Amino acid sequence: MAIQADKDTIVVEALINGQNVKSLSQVAKENPTNPAEIVGYFPVTTKEQAVEAIEAAAEAFKAWKRTSIDERIHLMRKAIEKIKAAENDIVHLLSREHGKPVYDAHGEIFVSLMWMEFACNEAKAALQEEIQEHEQGKTILSHDPIGVVAAISPWNYPIALSTIKIAPALLAGNTIVLKPSPYAPLAAAKVAEIIASEFPPGVINVVHGNADVGAELTSNPLVTKIAFTGGTETAKHIIKAASDTIKDMTLELGGNDAAIFLESFDVNDERAMRRIVVSNFLTTGQICMIAKRVYVHRSIYDAFVEKYIEAANRWVRVGDPFDHNTTVGPLNNLKQKNYVQGLVEDAQKRGAKVIPLGQILDQELFEQGYYLQPTLVLDCDYHDPIVVEEQFGPTVPILPFDDVEQVIKLHNESIYGLTSSVWGKEEEAIVVARQLEAGTTMINTAAVQGLDVRFPFGGFKQSGIGREYGVEGIRTYTESHVINVPKMLDLPYIPE
Ligand code: NAD
Repeated sequence: MAIQADKDTIVVEALINGQNVKSLSQVAKENPTNPAEIVGYFPVTTKEQAVEAIEAAAEAFKAWKRTSIDERIHLMRKAIEKIKAAENDIVHLLSREHGKPVYDAHGEIFVSLMWMEFACNEAKAALQEEIQEHEQGKTILSHDPIGVVAAISPWNYPIALSTIKIAPALLAGNTIVLKPSPYAPLAAAKVAEIIASEFPPGVINVVHGNADVGAELTSNPLVTKIAFTGGTETAKHIIKAASDTIKDMTLELGGNDAAIFLESFDVNDERAMRRIVVSNFLTTGQICMIAKRVYVHRSIYDAFVEKYIEAANRWVRVGDPFDHNTTVGPLNNLKQKNYVQGLVEDAQKRGAKVIPLGQILDQELFEQGYYLQPTLVLDCDYHDPIVVEEQFGPTVPILPFDDVEQVIKLHNESIYGLTSSVWGKEEEAIVVARQLEAGTTMINTAAVQGLDVRFPFGGFKQSGIGREYGVEGIRTYTESHVINVPKMLDLPYIPE
């Protein structure tokens, strides 16, 4: 296939110590709606360049850690204003390289800015030194920066999942080396460059590449914290790579989030039906916290499925990300498309019923890009791969359950525990929610619709370690440092 570059083609370079660094080779990033079209080029960062970026961050840390919190907040607020001013250009680039519809790309910037602003508003209180005079003397508790942070982000929310790390890491006095995903490197790199333009050289560095560069970032002794969002399998490599130097880490990993519809759920509530459809198909189902398996009480199951299909056929409109009618775009890459398609075909072979959902707005584009027909999967077994694996695409299994104990067991036997949702009468839903092993449980909504950046976000079990967002998401970039001045300097039980 002949690859064409067009007038909008952009080129990003690695950013090391405030300088764009040329690389010997560049990789073309294709447009998922038309893989023959190049959106831009990003570099292959060499191991030596990755080391240089880490060393630049380590050098910059010496002065940056001494800056006041006020100064850091001031610079971050200036960066926020610059991102706002560039929002339309960023959205354009993000939609082209990622495939997400324009409204969804704006949504990603919205969430990023909301978090960056929250982090600026809360940083002072979260990082303030505490001094206590007490019976046994005096204690100073400070929240010190950790050092050089390796921030590794995935392709599905490349900007939000980079800024979720950059903002608190820098506000807390750390320096950073960011590596965006090669499947969506351009818009994240542009946003990182905008932020970097407000900060001293070396405070933010950006490198590109995949596992090889990632391996350097996660094993280099100068890196003291890893902030990673991505797949659970990748995290296993990272944990091993980091083990020689025992690095601090926050890991935000995969999920297989369940939506549970209790007997008390009203299937005639059209707004709720639209919310669950959005929770299944937003960003073409490629969100860690999307509802990936739906369990419905058997007494309302048939009526639920009927109303669900009606709601999905209204909301799911597959097309060009730049067509304002489009709600669902292509998958981001061919590997992901093939994986999801394989899971649906496997379910069909096992006897499941696969129902196509929504409208295809442009058949020619659909055949040209990494598009998949959105589907509903019925009559599958509780333990079929499409139910127990993280499908990360535009398909969803809906299964009946008979009692609450059964569905809690089905929920909790997963290796994952990122988010979940319970739908029905609020008080009944909360009783069930309390029994679910998940970092966040939403009532009568799901996925990003129920996300609140003021509270910690992260997973139980193999969905991760640690939390982002909330005050915890700022403190996670610090080490608690206690300075104790005891009144009793010599302990009485220690012999002379
Ligand atoms: P991925 O694990 O393939 O890649 C994530 C990042 O890790 C990329 O930048 C990649 O280049 C890098 N990487 C790959 N191998 C590496 C290695 N050996 N060492 C260091 N870095 C390495 O994930 P993906 O396909 O980009 O993203 C999808 C996954 O991310 C899904 O599982 C999804 O659930 C998860 N995710 C989780 C959250 C969350 O908050 N929990 C949010 C979004 C996505």
